[in-house]
Amino acid sequence: MTSAHDRIIAAVDRLFDEQVEFLETLIGFQSLRTEEAAAQDFIAKALTDRGFTVSRFRTDSSKIGEHPAFSPTTVNYDNSWNLVGLKTSTGNGGRSLAFNSHVDVVPAGSKDRWASPPFEPRRDGDWLYGRGAGDMKAGLAASIFALDAITSAGLSLSGEVQVQSVVEEEITGNGAATAFALGFTADAVLSPEPTDEQLVRANAGVIKFRLETRGRPAHPREPESGQSAIDLMIRLIGHLRVLERQWIADRAGKRWFQDLVNPVALTIGTISGGDWIASIPSDCVAEGRIGFYPGEDPKVRAREVEAFIDLIQSEDPAFAGERLVTLSWVGVMHAGYELPEGTDAEKTLRSAHAATHSGTDLDAYVMACYLDAAVFSVHGNIPSLVYGPITENIHGIDERVNLSSLRRVTKTLALFAADWCGIQENEQSAPPAKP
Ligand code: ZN
Repeated sequence: MTSAHDRIIAAVDRLFDEQVEFLETLIGFQSLRTEEAAAQDFIAKALTDRGFTVSRFRTDSSKIGEHPAFSPTTVNYDNSWNLVGLKTSTGNGGRSLAFNSHVDVVPAGSKDRWASPPFEPRRDGDWLYGRGAGDMKAGLAASIFALDAITSAGLSLSGEVQVQSVVEEEITGNGAATAFALGFTADAVLSPEPTDEQLVRANAGVIKFRLETRGRPAHPREPESGQSAIDLMIRLIGHLRVLERQWIADRAGKRWFQDLVNPVALTIGTISGGDWIASIPSDCVAEGRIGFYPGEDPKVRAREVEAFIDLIQSEDPAFAGERLVTLSWVGVMHAGYELPEGTDAEKTLRSAHAATHSGTDLDAYVMACYLDAAVFSVHGNIPSLVYGPITENIHGIDERVNLSSLRRVTKTLALFAADWCGIQENEQSAPPAKP
């Protein structure tokens, strides 16, 4: 008599080719910000076909500024759709679980530097390439196929399970915030982000900003009459590095962060300025982010940045005169979290991981960036486990996910769901005997 675990693992193997084909189709949807609807339709159909009750809802902008899980946005959410597929338990008393994934992806960067087009998935040996392959469509597909494996093994979960497919993770977190505010929570959340088969012990809070500098345009024959907005921006970014160094120094004594080189990175992600090669530029815009530590209020950190910019404008003569700098908040403004050690959810994941890794213990590490798990952890006090496959070059060129790792992770997710929610034999269907 094979154990339920063995049957589930065999089912993941049996379904794995189909899972990779499903993932390839999903990668083919160019689910950039506000362009996720087609990918969501594909996921909605997949969940409906599997017997989930599917809720489809727009990202909510009405709660920005009102509900602490929400962050400022610069886009309209008319075409910004989230999904939750829900399966109620057929038994009783099992714990509930929500798999949380984001379907949005970041732009591909220079497409001509990819070995193959970023939205045309390509398999090469044990790797699958494509934008979003790792971050995190592989995880989204894995959560669906982990649950398929349980069904295919002739079993069903004793607790309610959700498959969440949200948007906006890469910029504001407002997709997860909307799901949370609508009550899509559970006794545990598992987010299969690309973590190289490790558990995220803590993440950073993040605030995202836009800076605009206003120069004085002029002809280069009389440069002294002008002031370059681009030069001002470069100078301003230099000043901000001082703030970053102060925040890095704050890591001392912070248990999970003190050994990281830079847990609060200030990065400038976009910059543009000027409108003519031979004019002194009048305007420049830069956008970026800076991290901070769990337990700190994002609004307090934002006020610190605002005060710092005010200080620069009053102390650096280059910024003297009329207000030459405008600062605005344009994306995530959210606290980080630390996953408490030793929760039942973590113990359950540890044993599932050990079962699929020849007894090897699960490692934990710090991911110093925003994660949607923070919404559930910070505002819901829900154990939120971030654990997913081995990937390379996420947000970079030639992003790829390792298929052997994805198979192991899918098994771990399936065993985790089975052990966390509990399982029972399906009365109507015997365990499938087909090859
Ligand atoms: Zn991600």
